[in-house]
Amino acid sequence: MLTVLRQIAQEIDLAGDLPSALNVVARCVREAMQVHLCRIYLIDHKRKKYVLMAFDNNDILPIPSQSVALDDGLLGLVAERVAPVAHLNLTVPEENNKLAFLGVPIVYHRQVLGVIAVEEANHRIFSEDEEAFLVTLAAQIAGTVMHAKDMGFIFHAEVTPLESTCLQGIPAVAGVAIGEAKIIYPIADLDAIPDRHITDVDAEIERFVTALDAARLDIIQLQQRLESTLPKEEQVLFSAYLQILNSADLKVGICTEIEKGQWAEGALRRVIKTHMMQFSAMTDHYLKERAEDILALGQRVLYHLQEKKKEPLNYPQKTILIGEKLTAADIANVPVGLLCGVVSYSGSGNSHAAILARALNIPTIMSAAGLAVTELDGKLVVMDGYHGCLYVDPPPKLLQDYTLWAAEEKELDKELQALRSLPCQTSDGHEVALLLNAGLESDAALALTVAASGVGLFRTEMSFMNKAQFPTETEQRNLYGRILQAFSPRPVTMRTLDIGGDKPLPYLPIHEENPFLGWRGVRFTLDHPDIFLMQLRALLSASEGLDNLQIMLPMVTSVEEVNEALQLLQRAYEDVSAQGFKIVAPKIGVMLEVPAAIYQIEAMAERVDFFSVGSNDLVQYILAIDRNNARVCDRFDSLHPAVLRTLNHAVEKAHACHKPISLCGEIASDAVAAVLLLGLGFDQLSMNAGILLRIKWIIRTISYERAKALVQRVLVFNDAALIRMEVEKVLDEAGLGGLIRAGKR
Ligand code: PEP
Ligand code: MG
Repeated sequence: MLTVLRQIAQEIDLAGDLPSALNVVARCVREAMQVHLCRIYLIDHKRKKYVLMAFDNNDILPIPSQSVALDDGLLGLVAERVAPVAHLNLTVPEENNKLAFLGVPIVYHRQVLGVIAVEEANHRIFSEDEEAFLVTLAAQIAGTVMHAKDMGFIFHAEVTPLESTCLQGIPAVAGVAIGEAKIIYPIADLDAIPDRHITDVDAEIERFVTALDAARLDIIQLQQRLESTLPKEEQVLFSAYLQILNSADLKVGICTEIEKGQWAEGALRRVIKTHMMQFSAMTDHYLKERAEDILALGQRVLYHLQEKKKEPLNYPQKTILIGEKLTAADIANVPVGLLCGVVSYSGSGNSHAAILARALNIPTIMSAAGLAVTELDGKLVVMDGYHGCLYVDPPPKLLQDYTLWAAEEKELDKELQALRSLPCQTSDGHEVALLLNAGLESDAALALTVAASGVGLFRTEMSFMNKAQFPTETEQRNLYGRILQAFSPRPVTMRTLDIGGDKPLPYLPIHEENPFLGWRGVRFTLDHPDIFLMQLRALLSASEGLDNLQIMLPMVTSVEEVNEALQLLQRAYEDVSAQGFKIVAPKIGVMLEVPAAIYQIEAMAERVDFFSVGSNDLVQYILAIDRNNARVCDRFDSLHPAVLRTLNHAVEKAHACHKPISLCGEIASDAVAAVLLLGLGFDQLSMNAGILLRIKWIIRTISYERAKALVQRVLVFNDAALIRMEVEKVLDEAGLGGLIRAGKR
């Protein structure tokens, strides 16, 4: 069975789209299990029906019904039990026939998406092996089915957001946003093309015809170029391509869609997908394979359509950026002042897109499952970044409420400006320094507007990631110098190069099975003393005359790594001193982001000056949950009791060694977590500029004694949700409810 499963997986890969993939599955299952019929139904939740997506039979059994009620007999039972159902002697009343039936659910994240069912006209007992085979297949295709459903490619209407329906995602950046949906989709990816309404039909048809001509020209040129090298038989392929592109069917089909008001890209997607489905369903192998050609040609026409549209994207005045997989670059592309909100179909609150959005203080929702990306473009949407809710075409009352809350939030931000010059001190006199997380030069300007006490984390790798090769020592020195200068005399903590994991360098690809457990941070730089020394020299020399540099080592796992790094630092210091730079030796710190480091604080404290918890990584390593994996991001809870207890241990140990300890992960930006970090006794919190004044408001409002008592209370809880509720109660009582929900209170 393993070989069969592998073959099916390969065929599915080649299938191109979901309907073709399901047809492949139905055929392969029927052949492999030698049954009379295999049918695959998917659930259209909106219409409360099973819809037949694919079937393969050998004409002994009748063609199955196109749709079946959700609670219908055996199919209903499979979904209800979320388990395989076998029936050996099923009587079909209208045909007075006996059937053997085996159905298994297609399950994704606990949700039943459909059923694969096989039937046999004779009495038959399905073996456990056969059942396991179907279960495996169902699990294999579940992710693909879910994705196609979410993208609105299966049941168009099903995922159309209803008025007042809240599409739920992971709240990544708090805040309210109201604006117009702007869909970002990858170039030349038909699957990612949204529907979009147009009014100028003639202009759109002209665009399409021009793109079609360009695609045709491509093929002719390809044909000519390969004429002398390609055997005659193979050249027929190009004629076949041209035939498809010249087919009146294709052209008329697309023009008809455009005439209905669909833009050229959307019309192309619809018609190409329909053609592909028709070809994939054919039994003739040769014709089946034409489906792939049609897709390739469709992508080519799409490429030309998008080529012509390469002029800058038009962003609405209040852009809510929505995409299947938004990247930090997509966010950065939106002109300043236009971006109101970010919604990504995938990713988690710790992906770099979310980190950038947080830095810009833009409400963000990640992993917004059920998002009908194809149908959202241009719609009015309301985002609640506190709860991860997105409302499309909101009803008037909801819009009115959120408009009020959004205005209140603006007002609150204005009021908080008054805190800029006030000390960051609790009502009972305990001081906590608030610092800035940055990685780009432009962040420095932002920081100055919120009066941060310095930089707690400068991610030096950002400037490495934007380049085509390693930056030179001089380039590095100049950049570091500008940042140190901008903050002088306030301290700037420069973290040494932290690449690996999800931060690859474009010019140094590292292929690893488990990049987050691999060659990351200081593990890489210690293995590359050439690159490390260059950076250390640049840092040290840049600090001349400013003396506000602190250096921090990422991903430290052992004391030996600290020793080695210190030796290299000493060498760099001697090098630059020999060059004539007069430098005050900087303070050195270790990032606590690998649990092993937490348990070696005492030994490390003998070698370095400070500690800083990198909670993004620390949480991922304590919980063994990938910080970027959307499948498990709902389990990535930074308030997990084990995390709190680890943080408590870290603070106690660092303080017992008389070393300051800060925290520079994303949880410092979470109002609830910030109260606990205060109570745990962190000396400094480092965060994005956008959130800094809100956290300052918390610290100036809640007394240290109260925060400490709260920590003692929740440290014994075993449930992160309870911990969150307990802290939220304290925030509410302190009049800080505006930090945990829309509006001001
Ligand atoms: C962290 O891990 O918490 C951290 C601050 O570093 P990064 O997010 O860059 O890995
Ligand atoms: Mg980290």
